[in-house]
Order: sequence, then structure tokens, then C-alpha cells
Amino acid sequence: MTGLSDSFQRPIDYLRISVTDRCNLRCIYCMPEEGIDLFPREDMLSYEEIYTVARAAAELGISKVRLTGGEPLVRAGLSRLVSMLAGIEGIEDIALTTNGVLLARYAAELKAAGLRRVNVSLDTLRPDRFQRITRGQRLEQVLEGLRVAEELGLTPVKINVVAMRGINDDEIPDFARKTIDDGWNVRFIELMPFGEEGAKEENHIPVAEIRERLEALGPLEACMPAAGGGPARYFRYPNAKGSIGFISPISEHFCTNCNRLRLTADGHLHLCLLGEAEVDLRAALRSGVSQAEIKAILQRAVAAKPERHYLAEGKGPFGKAMAHIGG
Ligand code: SAM
Ligand code: SF4
Repeated sequence: MTGLSDSFQRPIDYLRISVTDRCNLRCIYCMPEEGIDLFPREDMLSYEEIYTVARAAAELGISKVRLTGGEPLVRAGLSRLVSMLAGIEGIEDIALTTNGVLLARYAAELKAAGLRRVNVSLDTLRPDRFQRITRGQRLEQVLEGLRVAEELGLTPVKINVVAMRGINDDEIPDFARKTIDDGWNVRFIELMPFGEEGAKEENHIPVAEIRERLEALGPLEACMPAAGGGPARYFRYPNAKGSIGFISPISEHFCTNCNRLRLTADGHLHLCLLGEAEVDLRAALRSGVSQAEIKAILQRAVAAKPERHYLAEGKGPFGKAMAHIGG
């Protein structure tokens, strides 16, 4: 195993796998109410095809995998994929990003299959607002999912909060208190220009402002991430068991430390979340190429990763939904 690095000497050791573009919610910053144009079913990679890609990636040095979507838990039999991935030599960490609605139902079988930890997206602690932001389902299901994940040791559970001005920013202090009172690990994510609300400039709050608002409640001390590394910077209030992370893809982009490759549900390698470049892997997979050729395609894709995104220059995100790419 040699280790992968791109043309800018960034080590690439992390593969984000979108297992579906389908979702049981319609978050206002991600999808329109009527949903997005879905990939035809026959274009979606089978679990066997995803396994083939992951095995080739692991042979090249990928050691961390995250399952995302769309909502990964709406794809049938996800724990079968998890156990297939867990059996690959070199894959040390398998994580899941979910909206949490189905988490209580599947957490135990996922854990048994080899899932290590979960990130749960939750933008509000208020039931009525939850309905408004996600356009459906019930907050209690997500809270129950969090509780079960914690109990089963799918930890550290990280809570992803997309902060939006005028929509949920008044709850920033409530989430902060959860890190103190309940040991939550909360990460505030800057709104990106996807979906209806994401496209509205007035909804955006730079991370620096979120941090200022949190510091008004008390001093924040820098701390190390509990697990997983990644683009977040972590802090905590003195004596808090939980942490606060900031992910600032827009205002302070972290492209210099980008360590990831994305596999879309329809079998493309998407080289930058906010970029356009993709490499078609599905065609190769279905034409029966060798494992060596899959590895060569992965290497060429990594070499073609752009240095950074160009949102500040007005380029991106090119009309694709977050759920197509795998957020
Ligand atoms: N359905 C799963 C979930 O919601 O966690 C996984 C897929 S979702 C696309 C992955 C992450 O992207 C979620 O944390 C979600 O909040 C985030 N996301 C979606 N649209 C976003 C946007 N416009 N700006 C910032 N984050 C966004
Ligand atoms: Fe679905 Fe996740 Fe997008 Fe919400 S953020 S609509 S849960 S994919």
C-alpha cells in the first residue's frame, strides 16, 4: 500500500460513498418540496459494485469510509453493505451521515455489521420548526435515534447543524447548552448554495459570526476532534463534556486540507463537492474491467482533483443537488 495523494500533495485517505439520491425528508436547504430528478434505478451502483470500488480504493490507501446520500437509511439492506466494507483489509473506519429518522430502527444491526459512528443532521430542537425545515417527519424520531446510537456506542455521535439566518440562528445558544448539559458534539455548518434556502444570500451566516455569538455565552477553548479528523475546527466551553465544531466551506474554505474522494450513487467519482468535475466509474465497472484498471481510474481521478472550489469567483455548484453528489 503506497498511499494516495493528489497533484497538490494532499494525502487522500477518505472515501464518501453516496448509496442513494432518495430521501425521506425535503430539507429546505437541500431539495425542493417535490424532490429532485432521481437517478434511474438501473444507474445506481449495486452493493457489489460499491464493494469493488471500495476494495480498490483501500488497496490504494483509503482507510476511512463514510456512507451518505440522499438518506442512506432509506436504501434497503444497508447493513449488508456495511459488513461487506468492514471485511475489506485497510478500511479502519466506517461512519454514516444520516438525518436520523430511521436511525433507532437500524442502529443495532448497523453496529453489529461494523459501523463505527454516526453523524446526525439536526437543525432545530423545536418540533414545529423541525417540520418546517424538513417538510415532514417528527423530531422525536431523530432524538430517539440519537439516544439509541449513543447507547449502542456509535460514538462520538456528532450533530450537524446548518445555521441559517432568520430560520434557526436563534437556537445557536440552545445547541451550545446541549454541549454542556448533555455532552453533545455539535458542529455548525455554513449554509452552502444548494436548494432554495441555500441559494438566498440573506440566509447565510459566516462561521466567524456564529463563533462570536457563542463566545458571548462564555469562552471557548480549542480542542482536538473526538474522532475522524476532517474539516471541522473544534472548541469547548470550560468543563463541558461535549464539543463545538465549525465547518466553514465558504468563508474560510478548507480546500488545502481536502482529503476526500466522493462516489456518487450512480457510480461517478465527484472530485470536489462544490465543483463540476466527475469521472465515470460505472461504465468501467459494468464493462468488466480488471481491479487494476479500477485502481488506475481512481488514481487518475485523484490526480485530477481541483486545487479548490471557485465559489468566490461565482463558479458553482453547477445545478446538481447535494443529494446527487452525496453531501
Ligand atoms: N440525508 C443525510 C443527512 O441529512 O444527514 C445525508 C446527506 S445530506 C446531503 C449531508 C449533509 O449535508 C447534512 O448534514 C445536511 O445538513 C448537509 N447539507 C445539505 N444541504 C446543505 C446546504 N445547502 N448547505 C450546507 N449543508 C447542507
Ligand atoms: Fe434529505 Fe439529508 Fe437533504 Fe435533508 S439534507 S433533504 S435529510 S439528503
